[in-house]
Amino acid sequence: MSPALEAALAHADAHLDESVERLKTLVAIKSISTDKAYAGDVRQAAEWLVRDLEALGFDASVRATPGHPMVVAHDRAADGPHVLFYAHYDVQPVDPLNLWHTDPFTATLVNDDKGETRIVGRGTSDDKGQLLTFVEACRAWKAVNGLLPLKVTLFFEGEEESGSKSLPGFLDANREELGAADIALVCDTDLWNAETPSIVTSLRGLVGEEIEITCASHDLHSGMFGNAARNPIQVLADVIASLRNPDGSVAIEGFYDDVRELPADIAAQWKRLPYDEAAFLRGAGLTTPAGETGRSVLEQTRARPTCEINGIIGGYTGDGFKTVIPAKASAKISFRLVSEMDPKKIRAAFRKHVTDRLPPDATVTFSEHGGSPAMSVPTDGPFVKQAAAALKDEWGNEAALIGSGGSIPVAGEFKRVLGLDTLLIGFALDDDRIHSPNEKYDLRSFHKGIRSWLRIIAAFAA
Ligand SMILES: [Zn+2]
Repeated sequence: MSPALEAALAHADAHLDESVERLKTLVAIKSISTDKAYAGDVRQAAEWLVRDLEALGFDASVRATPGHPMVVAHDRAADGPHVLFYAHYDVQPVDPLNLWHTDPFTATLVNDDKGETRIVGRGTSDDKGQLLTFVEACRAWKAVNGLLPLKVTLFFEGEEESGSKSLPGFLDANREELGAADIALVCDTDLWNAETPSIVTSLRGLVGEEIEITCASHDLHSGMFGNAARNPIQVLADVIASLRNPDGSVAIEGFYDDVRELPADIAAQWKRLPYDEAAFLRGAGLTTPAGETGRSVLEQTRARPTCEINGIIGGYTGDGFKTVIPAKASAKISFRLVSEMDPKKIRAAFRKHVTDRLPPDATVTFSEHGGSPAMSVPTDGPFVKQAAAALKDEWGNEAALIGSGGSIPVAGEFKRVLGLDTLLIGFALDDDRIHSPNEKYDLRSFHKGIRSWLRIIAAFAA
């Protein structure tokens, strides 16, 4: 370990209390982005961050958007690689207030029965605590070494919890300034478990489709028209039933054309990861994985594409009974995409699959509900390798290079607008109760998060 890193780690340890105090100050600012009543508080949080970063020697500013402001701060004094670090300083509303054991805006240290110290309060985990892990790492490095060893641009959003509406436009307008970095880092994700760090290197994309099947010109009496009249619910059910094969795979032609298998080393690592499939399913009251036969639940939920029926509408659904043959039936269907799957191509293949199966007298209309490609970072790239090694040094366990089943739009936008790969590295735990009453961040997450970034900064700079 370099003396510079060693000194910075020691400084972070010795001044952890002060770091916690700063987190308390930031948590106390009620930056709830979804509620207009708190717009002034959101702005105040941005201004507090800028003042703090200026004191640290960053060239920092509050940037206006059509919504809540962004914070952008640069420290580009060093040679070496340039990282763009993203987090968000806005939070979710706190209701129902009566379920909180402590005041949500007073970050409170609570010892749990396992001897873990928790920092309880809104935003302690999502995402103010995570945001500050990186800022505190910069602070510790600068305190003992003067200059950071690499170029850093900090980019903090104030409306992540309310849909990131200003984000794409802001990135477009500031493409040169923000896109000058070599790699983006996002701190808004979880550890694999309390002992195992993780780097999220892939996120699934999404395609939404609504289909409406129409047969007769109006609803019909089933006694007079039954058998003779085509029933759109039956047609819809047949179409839906045709979407999956008995082995759980998706039956749309060409669906898997652009799906890549996991690289062998990543597949092997996923097999080694502590993960209990049965417990995962049990948590949802289930027993048996329903996806592709022969694929693990981890693969099914994080590395394979999906086709899921999210809603189905048709016929008489009120109290009692009505012997109707409805004129229309519809369904909402979504696809999670992986690898190189193209949202446009998948949408077209789905529509062809449906249209090809329509019997006489049935017509279909489609409505589009969004589409975004998957995002993935090559797991053999230098930044991934350096970050993984640095995390292992801090945690003792190998970092899980994992795919996320969901979508984190900012990473896709960084790629699309700025051309930057993103590593998502976070220190939250799945029991942090983010968005819920009694949100907490373990003091250990906060402390080791700061230390992890110090090691990553040193590794990137070396
Ligand atoms: Zn978040």
